[in-house]
Amino acid sequence: MYNNEIPKTKQLKEFQWPNGSRCAVALTWHVDAESGIIADNPENMKHLAAVSEARSAITIGVPNVLEELDKQDLKATFFVPGAVADWYPETVKSIHFAGHEIGHHGYMHENVLKISEEEEEKILIKGMKSIENITGEKTKGWAAPFWGVKTSTPALLKKHGFLYDNSLMQDYRPYRLETVHGDLMEIPISLIGDDSQQFLFFPVFGSVMNTAQHAYETWTEEFDGIREMQGLFTLIQHPNVTGRPGKIQMLRKLIAHMKQYDDVWFATGKEIAEYCMKF
Ligand SMILES: [Zn+2]
Repeated sequence: MYNNEIPKTKQLKEFQWPNGSRCAVALTWHVDAESGIIADNPENMKHLAAVSEARSAITIGVPNVLEELDKQDLKATFFVPGAVADWYPETVKSIHFAGHEIGHHGYMHENVLKISEEEEEKILIKGMKSIENITGEKTKGWAAPFWGVKTSTPALLKKHGFLYDNSLMQDYRPYRLETVHGDLMEIPISLIGDDSQQFLFFPVFGSVMNTAQHAYETWTEEFDGIREMQGLFTLIQHPNVTGRPGKIQMLRKLIAHMKQYDDVWFATGKEIAEYCMKF
């Protein structure tokens, strides 16, 4: 059974990034496709323009992002709802076979704050199975759909063998969340690094459409600060957003800015969590 207490957090003792690195960068994509708009309102499946925009994550987003990551020789973490893995196995296989990490992102992109703990556990298991059917491995990381996380969620994740969560915002360095099943590593985020805050312009919700240059400025200044303070920069993207032609060019420029330093560790969420568990 789970309680409603906020999990205790612990800083990592005498923490240092590996091999003299000054900071870490986790490039993440949330491959929501149609699950996001269905979770928002099942009626949206009748909205062909909204469906087509959501599906562009699969038709153009993921292929463009994979091509760019290949050119950059970088590995990323793709958080995939179980339904998306069931609908588009070839796409999810293409991500997995390119060597990227597949993380858990609900089954139908559920906000767990709106469902019972029993339902949350069922969904967690269902999503895990869908991903495992493709990768043959248990997924180790979870990112919360709609940033919905219950106080009991970290314990549930740990109970099911997860190593880390990638949804909380208490620090810009990884930290431990104490649960009754042991510590879960928090690979923190900030909404500053979320492309939804820059470009959320789905036909059914959202109306933010900054220029790519605005996002570039926001993200480079955040990265520069985090590098100075030896933290972690998590970039949260959606393939239907940053897989667009203009955004791919901006992403290339952003990565070039980060790569000008030889002390930046680009890593997947799983690699970072495994490393941090030593502290
Ligand atoms: Zn999502």
